[in-house]
Amino acid sequence: MSDKLYGEIITVGDELLLGHTINSNAAFLGQRLSECGIPVRWSSCVADDLGEIQASISLAMNRAHVIVLSGGLGPTPDDLTRDAIGQLFDLPLVESPVQRAQVEEMFLKLGRELPVQSMNQTLVLGGTERLENPLGTAAGIHLERKGKHLFAVPGVPPEMERMFDDQIEPIIKRAFGQAKYFARTLRMAGIGESILLERLGDLDLLARRVSLAYLPHQGLLDVRMTSASQDEMEADADIAFAEHYIRERVGNTSMHRDAIRCPE
Ligand code: ATP
Ligand code: MG
Repeated sequence: MSDKLYGEIITVGDELLLGHTINSNAAFLGQRLSECGIPVRWSSCVADDLGEIQASISLAMNRAHVIVLSGGLGPTPDDLTRDAIGQLFDLPLVESPVQRAQVEEMFLKLGRELPVQSMNQTLVLGGTERLENPLGTAAGIHLERKGKHLFAVPGVPPEMERMFDDQIEPIIKRAFGQAKYFARTLRMAGIGESILLERLGDLDLLARRVSLAYLPHQGLLDVRMTSASQDEMEADADIAFAEHYIRERVGNTSMHRDAIRCPE
Protein backbone atom coordinates (compact mmCIF):
# COMPACT_ATOMS: atom_id res chain seq x y z
CA MET A 1 0.00 0.00 0.00
CA SER A 2 1.23 3.51 -0.71
CA ASP A 3 1.74 5.89 2.21
CA LYS A 4 -1.13 8.00 1.07
CA LEU A 5 -4.08 8.16 3.42
CA TYR A 6 -7.39 6.87 2.19
CA GLY A 7 -10.89 6.95 3.54
CA GLU A 8 -13.68 4.46 3.09
CA ILE A 9 -17.40 4.82 3.70
CA ILE A 10 -19.73 1.96 4.50
CA THR A 11 -23.44 2.64 4.61
CA VAL A 12 -25.63 -0.09 6.02
CA GLY A 13 -29.30 -0.59 5.31
CA ASP A 14 -31.67 -2.59 3.12
CA GLU A 15 -33.69 0.59 2.54
CA LEU A 16 -30.67 2.17 0.84
CA LEU A 17 -30.13 -0.82 -1.44
CA LEU A 18 -33.81 -0.94 -2.35
CA GLY A 19 -33.77 2.75 -3.22
CA HIS A 20 -36.39 3.59 -0.61
CA THR A 21 -34.00 6.00 1.08
CA ILE A 22 -31.52 8.19 -0.79
CA ASN A 23 -28.03 7.53 0.52
CA SER A 24 -27.38 11.07 1.67
CA ASN A 25 -24.99 9.91 4.41
CA ALA A 26 -22.52 8.68 1.79
CA ALA A 27 -22.58 12.12 0.14
CA PHE A 28 -22.12 13.94 3.43
CA LEU A 29 -19.28 11.68 4.58
CA GLY A 30 -17.52 11.78 1.21
CA GLN A 31 -17.48 15.54 1.24
CA ARG A 32 -16.45 15.93 4.86
CA LEU A 33 -13.70 13.32 4.78
CA SER A 34 -12.12 14.81 1.69
CA GLU A 35 -12.30 18.26 3.26
CA CYS A 36 -10.36 16.81 6.20
CA GLY A 37 -7.62 15.75 3.79
CA ILE A 38 -8.72 12.10 3.69
CA PRO A 39 -9.74 11.34 0.11
CA VAL A 40 -12.40 8.66 -0.08
CA ARG A 41 -11.40 5.86 -2.39
CA TRP A 42 -14.20 3.39 -1.70
CA SER A 43 -17.80 3.65 -0.65
CA SER A 44 -19.93 0.59 -0.26
CA CYS A 45 -23.51 0.05 0.70
CA VAL A 46 -24.44 -3.23 2.36
CA ALA A 47 -27.54 -5.04 3.52
CA ASP A 48 -28.64 -5.40 7.13
CA ASP A 49 -26.75 -8.67 7.28
CA LEU A 50 -24.12 -9.59 9.86
CA GLY A 51 -21.82 -11.42 7.44
CA GLU A 52 -21.97 -8.69 4.79
CA ILE A 53 -21.27 -5.95 7.31
CA GLN A 54 -18.29 -7.90 8.65
CA ALA A 55 -16.94 -8.60 5.18
CA SER A 56 -17.07 -4.95 4.25
CA ILE A 57 -15.38 -3.87 7.48
CA SER A 58 -12.59 -6.46 7.03
CA LEU A 59 -11.98 -5.30 3.49
CA ALA A 60 -11.98 -1.66 4.53
CA MET A 61 -9.57 -2.24 7.43
CA ASN A 62 -7.15 -3.80 4.96
CA ARG A 63 -7.06 -0.97 2.50
CA ALA A 64 -8.23 2.29 4.12
CA HIS A 65 -6.97 4.31 7.08
CA VAL A 66 -10.16 6.03 8.11
CA ILE A 67 -13.38 4.07 7.83
CA VAL A 68 -16.73 5.61 8.63
CA LEU A 69 -19.73 3.35 8.77
CA SER A 70 -23.28 4.61 9.18
CA GLY A 71 -26.45 2.78 10.12
CA GLY A 72 -27.57 -0.27 12.02
CA LEU A 73 -26.77 0.92 15.54
CA GLY A 74 -30.32 1.19 16.80
CA PRO A 75 -32.18 -1.17 19.15
CA THR A 76 -34.15 -3.24 16.63
CA PRO A 77 -33.22 -6.76 15.46
CA ASP A 78 -32.23 -5.47 12.01
CA ASP A 79 -29.59 -3.25 13.60
CA LEU A 80 -26.50 -5.45 13.44
CA THR A 81 -23.53 -3.11 13.18
CA ARG A 82 -22.46 -3.25 16.83
CA ASP A 83 -22.65 -7.06 16.87
CA ALA A 84 -20.72 -7.22 13.62
CA ILE A 85 -17.88 -5.11 15.03
CA GLY A 86 -17.95 -6.94 18.37
CA GLN A 87 -17.63 -10.37 16.77
CA LEU A 88 -15.07 -9.31 14.22
CA PHE A 89 -12.71 -7.81 16.79
CA ASP A 90 -13.69 -10.16 19.60
CA LEU A 91 -14.98 -7.46 21.92
CA PRO A 92 -17.51 -7.98 24.71
CA LEU A 93 -20.63 -5.92 25.27
CA VAL A 94 -20.29 -4.14 28.58
CA GLU A 95 -22.39 -1.88 30.78
CA SER A 96 -21.61 1.80 30.48
CA PRO A 97 -23.04 3.89 33.33
CA VAL A 98 -22.62 7.09 31.29
CA GLN A 99 -24.42 5.63 28.30
CA ARG A 100 -27.14 4.17 30.52
CA ALA A 101 -27.72 7.52 32.23
CA GLN A 102 -27.99 9.25 28.88
CA VAL A 103 -30.47 6.78 27.44
CA GLU A 104 -32.58 6.87 30.61
CA GLU A 105 -32.59 10.64 30.56
CA MET A 106 -33.71 10.65 26.96
CA PHE A 107 -36.72 8.49 27.78
CA LEU A 108 -37.40 10.51 30.94
CA LYS A 109 -37.72 13.63 28.79
CA LEU A 110 -40.34 11.77 26.76
CA GLY A 111 -42.08 10.88 30.03
CA ARG A 112 -41.39 7.17 29.54
CA GLU A 113 -39.59 4.36 31.29
CA LEU A 114 -36.75 2.73 29.44
CA PRO A 115 -38.47 0.10 27.23
CA VAL A 116 -37.07 -3.43 27.32
CA GLN A 117 -36.37 -3.19 23.60
CA SER A 118 -34.04 -0.25 24.19
CA MET A 119 -32.12 -1.80 27.11
CA ASN A 120 -29.38 -2.90 24.72
CA GLN A 121 -28.73 0.75 23.87
CA THR A 122 -27.16 1.18 27.31
CA LEU A 123 -24.36 -1.26 26.47
CA VAL A 124 -21.11 -0.45 24.70
CA LEU A 125 -18.32 -2.52 23.18
CA GLY A 126 -15.44 -3.03 25.59
CA GLY A 127 -12.10 -1.83 24.24
CA THR A 128 -13.66 0.86 22.07
CA GLU A 129 -14.30 4.53 22.58
CA ARG A 130 -17.95 5.48 22.94
CA LEU A 131 -19.04 8.35 20.73
CA GLU A 132 -21.72 10.41 22.37
CA ASN A 133 -25.00 10.82 20.53
CA PRO A 134 -26.65 13.97 21.87
CA LEU A 135 -29.68 13.54 19.60
CA GLY A 136 -30.51 9.85 20.03
CA THR A 137 -30.04 6.69 22.03
CA ALA A 138 -27.58 4.85 19.77
CA ALA A 139 -23.99 5.53 20.83
CA GLY A 140 -21.31 5.63 18.18
CA ILE A 141 -18.17 3.51 18.18
CA HIS A 142 -14.54 4.45 17.65
CA LEU A 143 -11.98 1.70 17.38
CA GLU A 144 -8.30 2.02 16.57
CA ARG A 145 -6.17 -0.80 15.20
CA LYS A 146 -2.61 -0.41 13.95
CA GLY A 147 -3.09 3.30 13.38
CA LYS A 148 -6.31 2.78 11.46
CA HIS A 149 -9.53 4.29 12.71
CA LEU A 150 -12.97 2.78 12.39
CA PHE A 151 -15.98 4.89 13.29
CA ALA A 152 -19.55 3.67 13.41
CA VAL A 153 -22.38 6.17 13.71
CA PRO A 154 -26.18 5.87 13.58
CA GLY A 155 -27.91 6.11 10.22
CA VAL A 156 -30.24 8.97 11.14
CA PRO A 157 -28.69 11.84 9.17
CA PRO A 158 -28.83 14.65 11.78
CA GLU A 159 -27.36 12.33 14.44
CA MET A 160 -24.61 11.14 12.11
CA GLU A 161 -23.73 14.67 10.96
CA ARG A 162 -23.55 16.09 14.46
CA MET A 163 -21.34 13.23 15.65
CA PHE A 164 -19.03 13.59 12.68
CA ASP A 165 -18.57 17.33 13.19
CA ASP A 166 -18.21 17.30 16.97
CA GLN A 167 -16.26 14.10 17.55
CA ILE A 168 -14.99 12.29 14.47
CA GLU A 169 -13.39 15.24 12.73
CA PRO A 170 -11.37 16.25 15.83
CA ILE A 171 -10.17 12.64 16.25
CA ILE A 172 -9.09 12.49 12.59
CA LYS A 173 -7.26 15.79 12.95
CA ARG A 174 -5.51 14.64 16.12
CA ALA A 175 -4.52 11.33 14.53
CA PHE A 176 -3.43 12.54 11.10
CA GLY A 177 -2.49 16.14 11.78
CA GLN A 178 -4.09 19.24 10.42
CA ALA A 179 -4.48 17.64 7.05
CA LYS A 180 -5.47 20.30 4.61
CA TYR A 181 -7.43 20.01 1.47
CA PHE A 182 -6.89 22.52 -1.24
CA ALA A 183 -9.20 22.69 -4.18
CA ARG A 184 -10.30 25.19 -6.74
CA THR A 185 -13.01 24.79 -9.30
CA LEU A 186 -13.05 26.41 -12.70
CA ARG A 187 -16.55 26.58 -14.12
CA MET A 188 -16.68 26.67 -17.89
CA ALA A 189 -19.55 27.37 -20.22
CA GLY A 190 -19.76 26.39 -23.86
CA ILE A 191 -17.03 23.77 -23.78
CA GLY A 192 -17.50 20.02 -23.47
CA GLU A 193 -15.20 17.51 -21.86
CA SER A 194 -13.77 16.15 -25.08
CA ILE A 195 -12.97 19.59 -26.51
CA LEU A 196 -11.39 20.57 -23.22
CA LEU A 197 -9.17 17.49 -23.20
CA GLU A 198 -8.20 18.13 -26.80
CA ARG A 199 -7.11 21.66 -25.91
CA LEU A 200 -5.26 20.63 -22.78
CA GLY A 201 -3.20 18.10 -24.71
CA ASP A 202 -0.62 16.14 -22.72
CA LEU A 203 -1.83 16.03 -19.12
CA ASP A 204 1.38 14.71 -17.54
CA LEU A 205 2.65 18.08 -16.45
CA LEU A 206 -0.64 18.92 -14.76
CA ALA A 207 -1.13 15.48 -13.23
CA ARG A 208 2.20 15.75 -11.40
CA ARG A 209 0.92 18.73 -9.42
CA VAL A 210 -2.86 18.40 -9.07
CA SER A 211 -5.65 15.87 -9.38
CA LEU A 212 -8.25 16.89 -11.90
CA ALA A 213 -11.93 16.01 -11.85
CA TYR A 214 -14.31 16.85 -14.68
CA LEU A 215 -17.86 17.41 -13.53
CA PRO A 216 -20.31 18.29 -16.29
CA HIS A 217 -23.76 19.52 -15.29
CA GLN A 218 -26.55 21.40 -17.01
CA GLY A 219 -24.52 22.66 -19.93
CA LEU A 220 -21.62 23.72 -17.73
CA LEU A 221 -18.35 21.99 -17.03
CA ASP A 222 -16.69 22.24 -13.63
CA VAL A 223 -13.05 21.31 -13.55
CA ARG A 224 -11.89 20.74 -10.01
CA MET A 225 -8.21 20.95 -9.24
CA THR A 226 -7.11 19.42 -5.96
CA SER A 227 -3.72 19.47 -4.33
CA ALA A 228 -2.94 16.96 -1.61
CA SER A 229 0.16 18.82 -0.48
CA GLN A 230 0.35 19.41 3.28
CA ASP A 231 2.21 22.63 2.62
CA GLU A 232 -0.15 25.52 2.02
CA MET A 233 2.28 27.54 -0.10
CA GLU A 234 3.13 24.54 -2.22
CA ALA A 235 -0.55 23.68 -2.68
CA ASP A 236 -1.35 27.26 -3.65
CA ALA A 237 1.48 27.23 -6.16
CA ASP A 238 0.34 23.90 -7.64
CA ILE A 239 -3.20 25.10 -8.07
CA ALA A 240 -2.15 28.46 -9.46
CA PHE A 241 0.07 26.66 -11.95
CA ALA A 242 -2.80 24.39 -13.03
CA GLU A 243 -5.22 27.28 -13.37
CA HIS A 244 -2.77 29.25 -15.49
CA TYR A 245 -2.06 26.17 -17.63
CA ILE A 246 -5.76 25.57 -18.26
CA ARG A 247 -6.61 29.23 -18.90
CA GLU A 248 -3.78 29.52 -21.37
CA ARG A 249 -5.10 26.63 -23.42
CA VAL A 250 -8.83 27.19 -23.07
CA GLY A 251 -8.97 30.97 -22.95
CA ASN A 252 -10.35 33.12 -20.19
CA THR A 253 -13.78 33.55 -21.65
CA SER A 254 -16.72 31.98 -19.90
CA MET A 255 -14.61 30.76 -17.05
CA HIS A 256 -15.36 31.40 -13.41
CA ARG A 257 -13.24 30.50 -10.51
CA ASP A 258 -14.56 29.34 -7.20
CA ALA A 259 -11.99 28.72 -4.49
CA ILE A 260 -12.80 26.18 -1.82
CA ARG A 261 -10.62 25.67 1.21
CA CYS A 262 -11.18 23.40 4.10
CA PRO A 263 -11.94 25.37 7.27
CA GLU A 264 -9.31 24.55 9.87
P1 ATP B 1 -31.86 3.97 14.78
O1 ATP B 1 -31.46 4.19 16.21
O2 ATP B 1 -32.79 5.05 14.31
O3 ATP B 1 -32.37 2.60 14.47
P2 ATP B 1 -29.62 3.20 13.17
O4 ATP B 1 -28.20 3.50 13.35
O5 ATP B 1 -30.04 1.81 13.45
O6 ATP B 1 -30.49 4.23 13.99
P3 ATP B 1 -30.83 2.79 10.70
O7 ATP B 1 -31.85 1.97 11.40
O8 ATP B 1 -29.94 2.12 9.75
O9 ATP B 1 -29.94 3.57 11.72
O10 ATP B 1 -31.54 4.02 10.00
C1 ATP B 1 -32.29 4.98 10.74
C2 ATP B 1 -32.92 6.01 9.81
O11 ATP B 1 -31.91 6.74 9.11
C3 ATP B 1 -33.82 5.41 8.74
O12 ATP B 1 -34.93 6.27 8.52
C4 ATP B 1 -32.96 5.38 7.52
O13 ATP B 1 -33.70 5.45 6.35
C5 ATP B 1 -32.07 6.61 7.71
N1 ATP B 1 -30.79 6.33 7.09
C6 ATP B 1 -29.99 5.26 7.38
N2 ATP B 1 -28.90 5.27 6.60
C7 ATP B 1 -29.00 6.36 5.80
C8 ATP B 1 -28.18 6.89 4.77
N3 ATP B 1 -27.05 6.28 4.41
N4 ATP B 1 -28.58 8.01 4.16
C9 ATP B 1 -29.72 8.62 4.52
N5 ATP B 1 -30.55 8.16 5.48
C10 ATP B 1 -30.21 7.03 6.12
MG1 MG C 1 -32.20 1.10 13.10
